[in-house]
Amino acid sequence: MKCSCCQKELIRNLTLRELFFSTSLRCYHCEKQFTKIDQKTACPGCGRGSTPKLCQDCHIWQQKLGFVLNNKSLYQYDEGFRQWIKAYKFTGDYRLRGAFVTELEQLLKIYRTYLICPLPLSKERFEQRGFNQVSGCLELTKVSFAPLLKRKELSPQSEKTRAERLLMEQPFLLAVTSEKIRNQKVLLVDDVYTTGRTLFHGAELLYKNGAETVKSLTFAR
Ligand SMILES: [Zn+2]
Ligand SMILES: [Zn+2]
Repeated sequence: MKCSCCQKELIRNLTLRELFFSTSLRCYHCEKQFTKIDQKTACPGCGRGSTPKLCQDCHIWQQKLGFVLNNKSLYQYDEGFRQWIKAYKFTGDYRLRGAFVTELEQLLKIYRTYLICPLPLSKERFEQRGFNQVSGCLELTKVSFAPLLKRKELSPQSEKTRAERLLMEQPFLLAVTSEKIRNQKVLLVDDVYTTGRTLFHGAELLYKNGAETVKSLTFAR
C-alpha cells in the first residue's frame, strides 16, 4: 500500500481498521504534514483556528454584506499544507489529490442536504492546469457535487489592473438555471480560505438567485 500523499510505499504495519475502512492512508511523515483545525474552537464565520468567537474579519464581512459563510476548514495553512498544495496544484501532481480524502468525507457528512459546488477555475487556468484541484479531491469522496457557478470571461478593456478587477467585480455567473438554486442549501468548496472574497462573491450570487443558505468549506485556512 502506498501513502496517498507522497506515494511512497507504507512501511509501518497497518491496523485492521485501516486495512478495511480507510480509503486514504498517510505515511508517518505525511501524517505530521497537516495541522488539523479543531472545529470546536474555530471562528464560526471563517473557520480559522483558536478563536471560538466571530473574528474581526468576519465582523467586517457581516457589516458589509450582512452575512458570514460559516466556513469550515480542515487544516491550517502552514508550511506543511503549503508544500502539499505547491506539489499538487502548482506542479500538477494529480496523484496527491487523495491526501486527505477520509477527513474530507468525514467533514462533508454534515452537509447531506446541501448542493455541493466546487469553485470553478477560469477557462484559461483550467487549460493550463488540466484539472480543477477542488473537484480532483471531491471526486474521491462518495459525495456528489455539481458546478453551479462558472467564471465570467473578463473584458480586456478596463483601466483597472487585472488584479484589482478580480477583487472588485463579481467573477461568477450561474452555470444552471436559478430554479435549481431557489430555496436550496449550497456548500461552496475551495482549496484555501484567504480573505474569503471569492467565496463571498459566489455566495452573493447564489443568494441573489434565491438560495436559502450558502456555506463554505475549504481544505485550509
Ligand atoms: Zn507520505
Ligand atoms: Zn472569522
